[in-house]
Amino acid sequence: MADPVRVRFAPSPTGALHVGGARTAVYNWAFARRKGGVFILRIDDTDAERSTKENTAQILRSLGWLGIDWDEGPDVGGPFGPYFQTQRAEYHRRALDRMKANGSAYPCFCTTEELEAKRATARAGDGHAGYDRTCRRLEASAVATRLAAGEAHVWRLAVPVDRGDIVFADAVRGRTVFAAGDMDDFVLVRPDGTPTYNFATVVDDADMQITHVVRGDDHLSNTPRQILVFEALDRPVPTFAHLSMIWGPDGKKLSKRHGAASVEEFRDMGFLPDALLNYLALLGWSLDGETTIVPPEVLKTQFSLERISKNPAIFDFDKLDWMNGAYIRDMEPEALVARMLPWLEDAGLGSASELETRHDWYLALAQLVAERAKRMSEIAPLARYLFVEEPAMDPAAAEKAFANEDAGRALAAVLTACASLDEWNPAAIEAALRSLAEVLQFKPKVLFQVVRVAVSGSAVSLPLFESMWLIGRERVLARLEAAQSVAAGLDSTRGL
Ligand code: GLU
Repeated sequence: MADPVRVRFAPSPTGALHVGGARTAVYNWAFARRKGGVFILRIDDTDAERSTKENTAQILRSLGWLGIDWDEGPDVGGPFGPYFQTQRAEYHRRALDRMKANGSAYPCFCTTEELEAKRATARAGDGHAGYDRTCRRLEASAVATRLAAGEAHVWRLAVPVDRGDIVFADAVRGRTVFAAGDMDDFVLVRPDGTPTYNFATVVDDADMQITHVVRGDDHLSNTPRQILVFEALDRPVPTFAHLSMIWGPDGKKLSKRHGAASVEEFRDMGFLPDALLNYLALLGWSLDGETTIVPPEVLKTQFSLERISKNPAIFDFDKLDWMNGAYIRDMEPEALVARMLPWLEDAGLGSASELETRHDWYLALAQLVAERAKRMSEIAPLARYLFVEEPAMDPAAAEKAFANEDAGRALAAVLTACASLDEWNPAAIEAALRSLAEVLQFKPKVLFQVVRVAVSGSAVSLPLFESMWLIGRERVLARLEAAQSVAAGLDSTRGL
């Protein structure tokens, strides 16, 4: 049987989790789940200056919010830990020792100035790209003496002279070739003993028995170097899958300038985790070329590396809005109520205790807004007039709706009709208003607009009859009365 799939997401905690990184995490996670494999979270915190605890916490929080769970990682542990790269120094040292022993790593004592001079010569035209391997030619005894004397040095990879081109089958890009001649004896370990990215990553991937490396194609040029290190360590080379970048609509790398770029920014804009997860999954992958709604359960059972696209992905905010709206519509009202409460509370509307006492009211509200909100952030503004005692009246809307000189008379009639209704529910309210329109010889649409502005304070609102029901009869009557005065005021200034 094939080895179980082991994949990792290895973010550097140097900033917030970008949606590009999140997409890489989604693909790794979905692939592991699909294959019944293991998804590992490793924190590549070797950049001491820019890595922070807060960034790590935010990355974990963002992934958790998206619904991505990991089987091994910094917080959950696992048999291949530690899962912070800086805590793996011992493993990096041991790997270097193995390479020293098998001759695939050598110390280089060239100073920065010497290297700079070599580069200048190379530029002037001796044709050799990269390090000229001066220290690779040193006598073993000379090396031993200089090491014993404590002379500053780095450790370089001794690229095998007869290695030939580096060819690998990328799971996304297909056969990928790097010319042997371009491979430099690059640095594995710096003078201070810290490993470079290409060395630490391979040691960790090898020790963690990673079978597939799925990551952004900004790392493509590192891959041949990493393959050489796997070979030098005599460890199996994993399968690589390089994902194309995510561009903003203007063809530039997606950044905050486009509106949002980090997972938490999208969260704060009112996107749902499942919708963002779905959107990111489809940003460069497809289930069958047409299905757009791919919930996590489907992703976990259907994801495949074969269906990842080679082409750059363009982030389309309108499509994400559409998708988020679809997820809001499809949510169970109970779940939507729970999701929307914090948004309402942030806007100073509603409360958990009110939710307890008016549960059905909240459920009805959820059903009403579900049809209209594309983002969670839109719900409070849409629903404000249903909560407050007296909504603000938009003067322009009042001016327009109450311009009809019969508006005052209509409002009075509606008030009477509402006051005398036997039952207060959307169907009864609608029936009353429709028959009133006939009596008043108003087009129903016109009458409804007058009432809408009166009860919501605005020319656009959630559906009228449901709104009136949710506002409650007492408040509706009060608002109709207040609107009558507004209409009368407009009437008295008319013709002046
Ligand atoms: N820490 C690296 C990054 O965030 C990991 C790259 C890799 O997956 O090898 O880009």
